[in-house]
Amino acid sequence: TLRVGVLALQGDVREHAALLAELGAEVAPVRRPEELATVGGLVIPGGESTVIDKLSRTFGLQEPIRTAIADGMPVLGTCAGLIMLSNTLVDGIEGQETFGGLDVLTRRNAFGRQTESFEAELDVPEFGGDPVHAAFIRGPVVESVGPAATTLAALPDGRVVAVEQGDLLGISFHPEISGEPRFHQRFLDRVAARG
Ligand code: GLN
Repeated sequence: TLRVGVLALQGDVREHAALLAELGAEVAPVRRPEELATVGGLVIPGGESTVIDKLSRTFGLQEPIRTAIADGMPVLGTCAGLIMLSNTLVDGIEGQETFGGLDVLTRRNAFGRQTESFEAELDVPEFGGDPVHAAFIRGPVVESVGPAATTLAALPDGRVVAVEQGDLLGISFHPEISGEPRFHQRFLDRVAARG
């Protein structure tokens, strides 16, 4: 059984844990460096990136997570999690930091307020087959994709909402809410491949 973690400082931890468990993984909440050391991959949930950033520093997790990313641990970040994986952040609050790892520039709250949340059908060529039903809730947009990263999905107007770089996967919407399992499966496949 694959043992993976969900960063459990803030955000929709339970939804991710439930989906990962449905896919057959053993799921551990990660709040401390010792817990991070026991998992083969990490999901960073949606929530509020400013809070996840602050708490990760308070709990001494920022450096261990950065090190794990540099060492090639597979990570899936959704929404606030995508922000946390971005090398460059626009419209963060004063002093906001990210873990980094993805060679992208990401704009926080790029779709406006909570009331402007929306859903869309996204074509994800890597998945073939059915489009992805995506829920956007105050999500970020990847405004620039550097040479090390690749685009997995974009809205019809061209705005990039899913990117990948090695074993890092960042998406600005919420598959854990819409019951879309393919991103999490892709993440678990990467964890399995690393052994
Ligand atoms: N606006 C949030 C942030 O800045 C992200 C929203 C979400 O994760 N649903 O972190």
